[in-house]
Amino acid sequence: MMKPSYVRVIIDRGIHRELDYSVPETLADRISIGSRVRVPFRDKSALATVLAILEQSDAKGIRPIEALVGETPTLSPSLLELAHWMSTYYCCPLETVMRSLLPQVIRRAEVGWKKQLFVQPRTSFDKDAIDQLRKRAPRQAELLEAIAKLEKLVPAAQLLRNVSSDTQTLRALAKRGLIELREEAVERDPHGDEQFIATTNLELNAEQAAALNKISNALAAPENAKPILLHGVTGSGKTEIYLQAIRLALERKRSAIALVPEISLTPQTVERFKSRFAEMPEAVAVLHSHLSAGERHDEWHKIHSGRARIVIGARSAVFAPLKDLGLIIVDEEHETTYKQEEAPRYHARDVAVVRAKMEKCAVVLGSATPSLESYHNATSGKYQLVTLTQRVDDQQMPAMRIVDLRRERRKEKIVPILSEKLSQAIADRLEKREQTILFLNRRGFSTSLLCSNCGAARNCPNCSVALTFHRNPAAAGRLSCHLCGHTAAVPKKCPECGKDALIYVGFGTEKVESIVSQLFPRANVRRMDADSMTRKEAYRETLRSFRAGKIDILVGTQMIAKGLHFPNVTLVGIINADLALHLPDFRAGERTFQLLTQVAGRAGRGDRPGEVFVQTYTPFSPSIQFARHHDFAGYFQQELEFRERCDFPPFKHAILITVRSAHEGRAKLSAETLVRRLKESLGSEYNTSDATPAPLEKLQGQFRFHILLRGEAIMRLSRLVGETLEKLPLPEDVVATVDVDPYQLL
Ligand code: ADP
Ligand code: ZN
Repeated sequence: MMKPSYVRVIIDRGIHRELDYSVPETLADRISIGSRVRVPFRDKSALATVLAILEQSDAKGIRPIEALVGETPTLSPSLLELAHWMSTYYCCPLETVMRSLLPQVIRRAEVGWKKQLFVQPRTSFDKDAIDQLRKRAPRQAELLEAIAKLEKLVPAAQLLRNVSSDTQTLRALAKRGLIELREEAVERDPHGDEQFIATTNLELNAEQAAALNKISNALAAPENAKPILLHGVTGSGKTEIYLQAIRLALERKRSAIALVPEISLTPQTVERFKSRFAEMPEAVAVLHSHLSAGERHDEWHKIHSGRARIVIGARSAVFAPLKDLGLIIVDEEHETTYKQEEAPRYHARDVAVVRAKMEKCAVVLGSATPSLESYHNATSGKYQLVTLTQRVDDQQMPAMRIVDLRRERRKEKIVPILSEKLSQAIADRLEKREQTILFLNRRGFSTSLLCSNCGAARNCPNCSVALTFHRNPAAAGRLSCHLCGHTAAVPKKCPECGKDALIYVGFGTEKVESIVSQLFPRANVRRMDADSMTRKEAYRETLRSFRAGKIDILVGTQMIAKGLHFPNVTLVGIINADLALHLPDFRAGERTFQLLTQVAGRAGRGDRPGEVFVQTYTPFSPSIQFARHHDFAGYFQQELEFRERCDFPPFKHAILITVRSAHEGRAKLSAETLVRRLKESLGSEYNTSDATPAPLEKLQGQFRFHILLRGEAIMRLSRLVGETLEKLPLPEDVVATVDVDPYQLL
């Protein structure tokens, strides 16, 4: 290989330009594409990634690299290629992509290995020395005796624990020259102190075997295998298939990534994977947002060095630096948490499909309610479709009962929270000692505070939303904004008209919890949402109590909707199915269908059938009706027709541009100018909307305007948008963000 004279790098700063540096002789042998380096930049140093090796450079005033960070290249050529693709596709500077591709602990290289003290075993000890020591320093002698029995290097902490001695005594022995201590790097294993009981492959049923066979074929000939969409109802044994598919990949000497949504990366999930591969505990790495910087550093190196062969993780695990990647699994592929809502605004499922293509590996997308995009890809032949129609335990799908809240309202003359039917069903479960889950995707006690005299609502001063009233102790009975965190005291009188006429309207999980506790005073009710689960242990503890049957009724937000198995839950109540349905979003119907189906999947997983009550004001909306009949195909067909009629994905790609500023007029003017420029450069091939105030007009003190672009050739569209924005000088206090394939349209 040619010795590098120059390199082109991208530095970790928002300068949107690649820079050239020369390579000092001393580093020439060790630098390659993907290496991390420290370079001089202006009058400081900066960290950077090597993008290319050059024989020469025409750049002026070239300076040499200062140092190499880490010994082996951090990024493989294929991950670098993926980064370039993301930068183009998501219309986002390469250095911003790098920020997601490499965890901060690795980019900054500030966190290192943990050093631990070890005690060296020693075969020959002078018996006299021990005897003498016993008189002068009996504790030291005792410890020395223990050390004399050692056969291998042991961590000092462990030894001291076993013999109840302390570091001081140990150090004293070392000082006397009687023993030898050594410092060694050790790995922080987030699951190191857990025991995993080995499990073996279950015997697959016919549908599962057929699915595994498809994956096996893809593993055998990945160059021309299409992505596999595994559509299987909840409890149809998808996870078992993933486990066996990973085993097959390992047998072929390939590695595997399993992506799961952060929310379902529960101890249960981790345990299932760790247990199946219990014979090689090192081979399974887990990446999630609760790791400490040190743990993340170690897990990353375990993967990068090739010791870990299986990675389970949330969104960003799609970038895990595994070598010989053979298989990527994306579980619950429809989940919107795979979409990152800050730059780079990538979707991990889509990145997984592209990475699989680049690295020639198999990719499996699994879901009980596939996204419209993926299902369309499957029915149109771009993906292979594999279907599991049966639950493994032959359980019936739960019966779904729709409760028409309009009729309940007429009866009661108030806004009902628990309909009579649902209350009766809960009472019935309590009697039978079965468990209930009540689901409402809204936190807080009351969703707004209104004046019944003048009609004024208490809104957030920074955002265009009403403040939510929280009663729980943490919020201390205050009003709070769920978007920016602003809080305010509850006023005694209406600040607008001065009348003592304030009323609470709307309700969230706190109110449901309180009503249920009043109605069923003997039941054990617990709430699970972002407010009650601020500590990680609280989450685990609640799940444990629920599993143990110590909780009768669990009230919660989407936290409880996904992926949990509770055999004793026979009733699920959806308090308000309309919440998602009426968002100004073309995916509202899809989300409602998915949510109802997923939540319903929580009912009746044991030997007793489940029942689901869906409370709604729109009982005849298609998403609710199709979900009720467990009719995915029917729902898909009608939703697809709607999308086609309206030129929405999967028929057209969309790009959402948000222009924001604290100054409303400047945001509006900039957005309008941008629209004119876009119309010129995009022409009629793409549909460019006018600049319109965003549904959420004001957020964190910023006024927001939206421009929606739609068209087919997305790479070209992204490029044109990037070029147009680059040429348009925006006022300093105006920011434009580009979201390709947006999921958040508010
Ligand atoms: P899904 O991921 O589709 O929800 P799981 O893989 O979690 O389904 O399977 C549901 C339950 O059925 C799990 O407890 C699992 O261990 C069990 N299971 C899966 N496949 C089989 C099988 N072939 N035989 C027996 N039990 C199975
Ligand atoms: Zn706010």
